[in-house]
Amino acid sequence: MAAEIRTFTCLNDNFGYLIHDVETKATASIDAPEAGPIIKALEREGWQLTDILITHHHGDHVGGVAELKQKFNCRVVAPHDKTTKIANVDLRVANGDVVKVGTLLGRVLETPGHTLDHVSYVFDTEKTLFAADTLFSIGCGRVFEGTYPMMWDSLLKLRALPDDFKLYCGHEYTASNVKFALTVDPDNAALQARAAEVARLRAENKPTIPSLLGDEKRANVFLRADEPAVAARLHMKGADAAAVFGELRERKNKS
Ligand code: ZN
Ligand code: FE
Repeated sequence: MAAEIRTFTCLNDNFGYLIHDVETKATASIDAPEAGPIIKALEREGWQLTDILITHHHGDHVGGVAELKQKFNCRVVAPHDKTTKIANVDLRVANGDVVKVGTLLGRVLETPGHTLDHVSYVFDTEKTLFAADTLFSIGCGRVFEGTYPMMWDSLLKLRALPDDFKLYCGHEYTASNVKFALTVDPDNAALQARAAEVARLRAENKPTIPSLLGDEKRANVFLRADEPAVAARLHMKGADAAAVFGELRERKNKS
């Protein structure tokens, strides 16, 4: 059945997302950076929070969970990873599990690298991907807990989704990502087009999200680490894709 999605800002540059099932009125928050803006968004729509789907244990993704749980008595769904301590969890999920939000079905993809517990939620019928801090528009998350091959593998899982899926990521980092990407991928026409679009959206103070996964596959250099042209650009001809990805990520860290 039909889903409605709302996008808003939390903290400095986190995205808050609500996904609402029109049929049953169930509403999930994807992560909970802070309670205030999520409560406001719910009130604007007249929606009741039934679920929180957590992607990973970082404070800017779980900081609002306790307050929301207290207020709405909602179900809290979080990655199955005993190495992390996310509080107030009702359901632990792992790769391939399907979470119901009313009649909507969110498929869990384990996408470790940024953290070891990181999962993404895919709503296939809605052609929607919530990738949090694994895949950003024109970028990807920092690799804090995992390894470069692990993160590259996670990005490949997301890249395998269809081109017409919409990417909803964890942060509004797109302008900074574009700036970096142009330094390593300056001749990419898809990137140049995205750069122009992002400049326009930011000038109008609009979010750059969602973007289409097909556009990301063409314009996001972090999804193209296995292309010979990208390796050549980094003077890494013939190198392993995960190594090229690692070099890209390290250059971005220093940019
Ligand atoms: Zn994070
Ligand atoms: Fe984050």
